[in-house]
Amino acid sequence: MIANNLQRIRQNIEAIARRSNRRPDTIRLIAVSKTFPATDIREALAFGQTLFGENYIQEAERKYLELGQNIRLHFIGHLQSNKAHIAVKIFEMIETVDQIKLAASLNRYLEQSGKIMDILVQVNIGRDEKKSGVAPEDTEDFLKKVMTLSNLRVRGLMTMPPFSEDPEKSRIHFSNLRQLAERLQQKNLFYDNTFVELSMGMSHDYPIAIEEGATLVRVGSAIFGDRS
Ligand SMILES: *Cc1c(COP(=O)(O)O)cnc(C)c1O
Repeated sequence: MIANNLQRIRQNIEAIARRSNRRPDTIRLIAVSKTFPATDIREALAFGQTLFGENYIQEAERKYLELGQNIRLHFIGHLQSNKAHIAVKIFEMIETVDQIKLAASLNRYLEQSGKIMDILVQVNIGRDEKKSGVAPEDTEDFLKKVMTLSNLRVRGLMTMPPFSEDPEKSRIHFSNLRQLAERLQQKNLFYDNTFVELSMGMSHDYPIAIEEGATLVRVGSAIFGDRS
């Protein structure tokens, strides 16, 4: 089941990329495994999926220990500063940095362990009260502050638009995030201004996110089934 789902989603990504005149290898699939057991993650691993997303530090820590090292984990949940020291140990990228306090705290632990970490800045592109993220108009200042932190590399932006049953409603938000990233890219505010990551799109709206420029799509239930 998981293998079939992955197969279908990979084919979709490839087809949508081609249709949108994008190179398929510029779009990476993150399998969001929150709440699913390590056995499900193993099934995905066996089918060649190595990039996973998790929302909860303790859950990720537990599953990561069970699974070993051949896995790349992105943190996509709400991170509290007091868990930053664990996060820098198990994650390859934190996609949800939206507070300077959190960035500073990650940087401190990275300095201590002599590591560099890639991060994304989460933007509340739809100004949804229920969502985290930096306000679009504050993103430039935020990036300038994070740039002063020696051990963090801002690779791009991440967003979660307001939820709607109609995936077409996400399009304007994805397009706005891409345009914001392009403006910031012109000001050289990312670590690598030749390739800026845009993490956007989930099970119901990832095709639209790819059409609008996503480089990372975060897909959970369409791979692993309903969480409920
Ligand atoms: C859970 C989650 C996803 C995956 O959602 P699905 O609808 O299961 O694909 C993606 N992004 C974030 C931030 C999430 O919390």
